[in-house]
Amino acid sequence: MKHVLKQDLYHEFLGIEKDIETKWPFMGNRFRVANPWKRELVEKAWTVADILKTHPYLSGEHMSEQTGLGKDHLAIIYKMIQRSSACQEYFKHSSNRDYFNVVSHYFNRDFYTLVFFVGTSCPSRCVYCPSVKIDSMGRRRLITYKDAMESKLSDDALERVFDDLSTIKQKGRDILVKISGGLEPLTDPATMEKIIYLSNRRSFPVKLFTNGLLLSDPTNRNIALMASDIRISLSTSDENLYRSICFPPSKQPLKQNTLNQLKNNIRMLVLERSVINPGCKIGFNSIILPDNHLHLVSLLEMARDLGIDYIDFKPNYFSSYDEKTQAAMDVSVREAKVVSSHESYKDLYVNFTGSLSRNDLFWSAWNGTCDAIKQSDFKLFITPYGHCSPVHYGAFPHGEPSFQNTLESYSMGEITPHRGLLDILDKPDRTPEIDLNKLNPFELMLNLEISREDADKKWGLPLCVSPYQTSQRDQIPPDLFFRFTQET
Ligand code: SF4
Repeated sequence: MKHVLKQDLYHEFLGIEKDIETKWPFMGNRFRVANPWKRELVEKAWTVADILKTHPYLSGEHMSEQTGLGKDHLAIIYKMIQRSSACQEYFKHSSNRDYFNVVSHYFNRDFYTLVFFVGTSCPSRCVYCPSVKIDSMGRRRLITYKDAMESKLSDDALERVFDDLSTIKQKGRDILVKISGGLEPLTDPATMEKIIYLSNRRSFPVKLFTNGLLLSDPTNRNIALMASDIRISLSTSDENLYRSICFPPSKQPLKQNTLNQLKNNIRMLVLERSVINPGCKIGFNSIILPDNHLHLVSLLEMARDLGIDYIDFKPNYFSSYDEKTQAAMDVSVREAKVVSSHESYKDLYVNFTGSLSRNDLFWSAWNGTCDAIKQSDFKLFITPYGHCSPVHYGAFPHGEPSFQNTLESYSMGEITPHRGLLDILDKPDRTPEIDLNKLNPFELMLNLEISREDADKKWGLPLCVSPYQTSQRDQIPPDLFFRFTQET
């Protein structure tokens, strides 16, 4: 691997040399780099790539302190890494692959993601849900929005949001719409239907996140199947475990709240998809917990037998575990990975997110506040009442009216028929100051990368040499080699 990487880095160095010669023939010959320097540069580029693999958010200045490389050396090394597909693959297969995927999604593909929290209730009471409070007696209480004083997003306001998304799209960004929670979106199928309709009318992909229980209703299935992707939260194939994860203990569980019923809902969904919308993907969002990790293989078997398209395994990023528990969970994940590589799983895409546990480096020693406005340039969450939060946590029900107290500290403003999405993004009513520890891991990674790029720009490394901005491959600063040869 090391050898292949170094070869690819060398190859990219030659490519940069050639591109400079083609673009600026009068400069190329003048600043040709001697062979021994090239070899040394490749060695150093390998060292830098290895550090970035474990500390992807490290700023150029800190990298310079760690490696002794000057800014201009680093500029060309970053450019080699950015252009090297072998390096990018190396990053994407590392334990920090989530970081590189986040960067690729938001920075290279340039997606703007708008997440609608639609639901105002939920039939489940999951143990890991941030909206569920469990008391000392084991009773589970669902925290909902206290909405007595507020009205939900009107049709006119929704239309206006989508007009604004079209404007963002016209400016060259891709749009991704998500319908999520918060609480269960299928508790408000009418709003969900409007959002899917408005997305489809503008050809924006729309992903629906649901616990799947209310898909027992054929009307709900019809609406859901108009989305591009239906992601069902399901973390076990065991009926008893399902009940204990998703519901408080009871003598007689309701028939509509059983795993058996949920499996029937999914079978119907898969069957009807072929008629209603064959392009719609159906998958599982599965959280690996101390309680269910011994059942991952049977969950895989169930997913395959139900005929769904993918399964995305994630850790519970709201918790951390002791070493022994974590090690046991890791063994189960390794076993599930081996099983999923078998031929019989060829139609099921299985993904294990890599670096999302609270035990890992992203969470340790990370404190401070997040620049909410910059974060909202990439992603925004809208509550059922129109409040806009740049972070997931801010759009959750906190048991308060959403214009008061806790939620106000996360809201940048409220969408109304007279105040659209772009108004709020351009001139927010408030600039919420949000503790980094309130961010979910993906948001934290986005924040770290925004900060890394800002720091590099200030230090004098332009965006076009960022090691992860592969879409900037052909953007070469004219003084790249000049600066390099001066430094050498
Ligand atoms: S299904 Fe989702 S919203 Fe409902 S309790 Fe479970 S995690 Fe929370």
